[in-house]
Amino acid sequence: MLTLIWLMAVLLGMLVLAYLNASGILWSAALAGAIAVAWGTHALPGWLSLALSALFVLLAIPLNIPVLRRKLISDAVLAAFRKVLPPMSQTEREAIEAGTVWWDAELFSGRPQWRKLLDAPTPALTADEQHFLDHDVEELCAMVSDWETTNIDRDLPPAVWQFIKDRGFWGMNIAKEFGGLGFSAFAHSQVMTKLSTHSGTVSVTVMVPNSLGPGELLAHYGTDEQKRYYLPRLAKGLEIPCFALTNPTAGSDAAAIPDYGVVCWGEHDGKRVLGLRVTWDKRYITLGPVATLLGLAFRAYDPDHLVGDKGDIGITCALIPTSHPGVEIGRRHMPLNAVFQNGPNWGRDVFIPMDWIIGGQPMLGRGWRMLMECLAAGRGISLPSSGTGMAKLAVRATGGYARVRTQFKTPIGRFEGIEEALTRMGGNLYMMDAARVLTAGAIDMGEKPAVLSGIAKLHLTERGRQVVIDAMDVVGGKGIMMGPSNFLGAAYMQLPVAITVEGANILTRSLIVFGQGAIRCHPFVLKEIEATRESDSAKASAAFDAALFGHIGFTLSNMARTLVTGLTGSHFVNVPANVAPETHRYYQQLTRFSAALAFLADVSMGSLGGALKRKEKLSARLGDILSLMYLSSATLKRYEAEGRQQADAPLMHWAMWDAMFKAQTAFEGVISNFPNRMIAAVLRRFVFPLGRPYFVPSDALGHDVAKLLLEPSATRDRLTACMYLPTSAENPVAQIERALTATLAAEPIEARIRAAAKEGKFDPKVPPGGGLDALVARAQAAGVITSAEGAQVIAARDLTAKVIRVDDFPQDLGLSQMVGAHGQAAVPAAAVVHKAAA
Ligand SMILES: Cc1cc2nc3c(=O)[nH]c(=O)nc-3n(C[C@H](O)[C@H](O)[C@H](O)COP(=O)(O)OP(=O)(O)OC[C@H]3O[C@@H](n4cnc5c(N)ncnc54)[C@H](O)[C@@H]3O)c2cc1C
Repeated sequence: MLTLIWLMAVLLGMLVLAYLNASGILWSAALAGAIAVAWGTHALPGWLSLALSALFVLLAIPLNIPVLRRKLISDAVLAAFRKVLPPMSQTEREAIEAGTVWWDAELFSGRPQWRKLLDAPTPALTADEQHFLDHDVEELCAMVSDWETTNIDRDLPPAVWQFIKDRGFWGMNIAKEFGGLGFSAFAHSQVMTKLSTHSGTVSVTVMVPNSLGPGELLAHYGTDEQKRYYLPRLAKGLEIPCFALTNPTAGSDAAAIPDYGVVCWGEHDGKRVLGLRVTWDKRYITLGPVATLLGLAFRAYDPDHLVGDKGDIGITCALIPTSHPGVEIGRRHMPLNAVFQNGPNWGRDVFIPMDWIIGGQPMLGRGWRMLMECLAAGRGISLPSSGTGMAKLAVRATGGYARVRTQFKTPIGRFEGIEEALTRMGGNLYMMDAARVLTAGAIDMGEKPAVLSGIAKLHLTERGRQVVIDAMDVVGGKGIMMGPSNFLGAAYMQLPVAITVEGANILTRSLIVFGQGAIRCHPFVLKEIEATRESDSAKASAAFDAALFGHIGFTLSNMARTLVTGLTGSHFVNVPANVAPETHRYYQQLTRFSAALAFLADVSMGSLGGALKRKEKLSARLGDILSLMYLSSATLKRYEAEGRQQADAPLMHWAMWDAMFKAQTAFEGVISNFPNRMIAAVLRRFVFPLGRPYFVPSDALGHDVAKLLLEPSATRDRLTACMYLPTSAENPVAQIERALTATLAAEPIEARIRAAAKEGKFDPKVPPGGGLDALVARAQAAGVITSAEGAQVIAARDLTAKVIRVDDFPQDLGLSQMVGAHGQAAVPAAAVVHKAAA
């Protein structure tokens, strides 16, 4: 009995020490104490106490004396580590090291400091930024009809191009000193979001010069002369920039571009200068067909060693005026029936002077690092905003549509099947917008959050697609029949663009989020890797020893925390005192996830080593857990930042439950597929010691969420804030807004008419025929409603009729007329006919 008590006490003590990540000295003192107790109380047989004492001395002395520990343990592990560490190319290393870590590191720590998140400033616009959003952006949206742009002009009208240039839309990320708008990341994100609620073409056209490209690269790496010349020209639209990286043979594997430049002497402006003879073949380049300034990535070689001793210098970025002889540019691709300018360009043995390299000769070969560093921040703004913008459009317009469209005498939004789709749409959007704002805010705090911007790009475009697909199902045929009355089809077609660019989503999910996250956010892995690269053996030994033993303590601590939080339902996890009470448990659950992710990540890296890189499905699921924790954190932050809006609480609760359930599924996916079955069994016991506790959000909660989408309210406005709300009578979104208001106003009047008819105040069927107009007239004649009320009912009916209308066209969809008008036979010309008919 005494032995059992001793054993239990020792195990409990070890669990507490591990949970608290106690120092080696504390561990040694506690174990020494336990052995002393065993001797004193005879809890163990004498021989066992003796054996434990000997083992303790053998281990405790070397483990607590750093010099001995290094000689006996760490140096041997370091040597083994160096052998098993998978080789990392220069480009891989630059990609992993790019940018900074922020809240992602906390999520990986096993014990996130929630105060850090809650204290992060909530982004806000300056007066100038707000003015730009409320006026310039609104004006730009009002100038663009996506249908006409896409189907008639096949391009933005010249006046729109000019407006974009004149109002500085291309200079949002260029500093004011160079004539740009110098906007914050948040302002930039707001602008992109609003444009994306209206037209994909205008959004992409504004987006590209403000993302990774000449402006961004020059601002960070350009020579003073390059900045002085180009930045003001770019800010004012005197140059149209594009950036060409993708080659037909190198898309996702962009570092493998075969495009090359050879350092040589050549003629430029009548002088013999040092430069490069460049050959390239690029495709998919946005704004390329109309660009005046081509940002070009290629691999530089110096076979004659004119600039140094390296033959293969590496990826290099240059700026080439497209008027330069040999630059072939102008042809267009047609990206999913969107008409933003996109096309191929190429050149063969084109000589460019050295000072066309961004940053000049010293930046030869530094192109990949430049691209990765700029991507670390930029990826968090443009595409997350565009995915969120399209989701806002889908939620607001579809919610309204589902309220005014009736089938079986009921608004379709009230059917449970439709409700399910609406619920997903609302819950997803609440979370997406929260993550968009949090990520932009992090960038404004000076972070270049490589992992978080990857998460934002991946999940906000992916969820954007889900929202739009759900919306398509809700609106049925109305979403399918293209024409000016279709408010959704263009977004449905264009979302895959956001999914594919800046790191296609499957690749980002499978390789980047966890692959980069585990190395960058883990408190010790990068330090261990860096120690293996250290050439000074004493320094390497000391650094590796500190990282290794820190890592062991970290893993043990997370193992204990995973088990304890699992067994206790994480009820005892400390949470900042002043969070909203209704969110308190979520912080505790996320802390549990954090410990379990850190533990699972360590076990995965430790047992699979370099093979984990090829186990993309495991890596993707581990990344999903990290991503869901980030999206959940953003959701909690939003709820606090917006003043704990009780009316919005269903959206927050649904998003949190959905994320927790999905995170649980991802944990289960990793554990069930873990290659070593014994480790998998142990992992399951630790991560889910009492089974799986998370459920899908309840139907009742889903009902509350869906209701919020069906009627005008402050919640609906907050959910779709920053959306362009058109006013033109023919705009389908404006028509839905009007029909919704009119329908809600008319419904009580219609109810009175029905009640009066039932009470026999008038006969609704005599004389027969005449429809609603006759019914209203009879109710009016019977004094049941006033003439103004009658007009309201008729207006609601007429506005709804406009909403449910779809476009139709002549037999040939207008092709013959199109040929006459534009001389291009292969372009769908339906719109021309429609326009003429209108
Ligand atoms: C509309 C549009 C605009 C663009 N604009 C530009 C531009 O301005 N400048 C520019 O340089 N480029 C641009 N691109 C190119 C874009 O960056 C590439 O399309 C993208 O990098 C993917 O390359 P890919 O299309 O060749 O697909 P592939 O590389 O062939 O990939 C196909 C699929 O395989 C997946 N995949 C690839 N490798 C892995 C892996 N290791 N693990 C798991 N999955 C993997 C990808 O995720 C993707 O789903 C644009 C593309 C489009 C469609």
